[in-house]
Amino acid sequence: MQAKCGTAYLNELYEKYQSLDDGVLAKYIPELALANPDSFGICVATTNGQVFQVGESQKLFTIQSIAKAFVYGIALEDHGREYVNSKVGVEPTGEGFHSIVLDEKTNRPYNPMVNTGAIATTDLIKGNGATERLKRILQVFRLYTGRDLDINVPVFLSERATSNRNRAIAYLMLNFGMINERIEETLDLYFQQSSIMVDARDLAVMTATLANGGINPITGERALDERYVKDVISVMLTCGMYNYSGEWVYRVGIPAKSGVGGGIAATVPGKLGIGTFSPLLDTRGNSIRGMKVCEDIARDFGLHIFNVVPPKYNLQEWMDGE
Ligand code: GLN
Repeated sequence: MQAKCGTAYLNELYEKYQSLDDGVLAKYIPELALANPDSFGICVATTNGQVFQVGESQKLFTIQSIAKAFVYGIALEDHGREYVNSKVGVEPTGEGFHSIVLDEKTNRPYNPMVNTGAIATTDLIKGNGATERLKRILQVFRLYTGRDLDINVPVFLSERATSNRNRAIAYLMLNFGMINERIEETLDLYFQQSSIMVDARDLAVMTATLANGGINPITGERALDERYVKDVISVMLTCGMYNYSGEWVYRVGIPAKSGVGGGIAATVPGKLGIGTFSPLLDTRGNSIRGMKVCEDIARDFGLHIFNVVPPKYNLQEWMDGE
């Protein structure tokens, strides 16, 4: 097994995939189509507090659907597992992230990683009114990232102005009594959480926090009650990459969540978090360079959950390197 240092390895990945320009920018939210297709950043944060980063790892972009994983954690903290399960399932849909489909028997959205389920978990965020509920999300995200976060207002307004499909989803769930009447407030909160600006480093620290049992490995602060860490990670594994989730587990085997802003956040429990940013997406809405990077890291360091083959590189040496 060869030794490999953290940043040197990530630089190799950066060089390898920088010229890969397959994919398209998200266009259905007009403001997202303004991203620079060349942007590419990678960061790995370990549970012992090391951070390795290359490229545009500190370029801000909107978190989009990646927020869904962390908001699910807040809903669990606010209401407990049983109640949240009565409102949102944990079953992959095999369909696109904005498909309008609910479980026929229970009327529940299938899982919290697609729009139906995420609008339902957003509805569950406690707080007195819109401002307090948004504050709660931002406070928890601050615990995950270790820094104050802002909302990209043009992206928020752009999504809100083109949101008939999400509005239809919300009204369908209201019809079935799955969410509260305060539809506009919850939708705004959903669009705002999607418009939180993060960089690849933030995503790596957030997922390293999950990998570290809910405690941010850099600040030492707890972001998520340890009872719910495995719930969040489980749905990331089974549902986090939209209708590519099954193939993702097969090929990469690391719990992950993607967003149409171009981010991917992946977590290797007990070890590390990966954050990538590249806004060129495949047809399902997953960042193409980001998926390649995760696949290489998983393969080279033997991180697939079911891997039994000696890996090419030793993870401990990587973590101990520069
Ligand atoms: N805000 C986006 C939406 O609801 C999130 C989608 C995504 O990242 N897949 O359409």
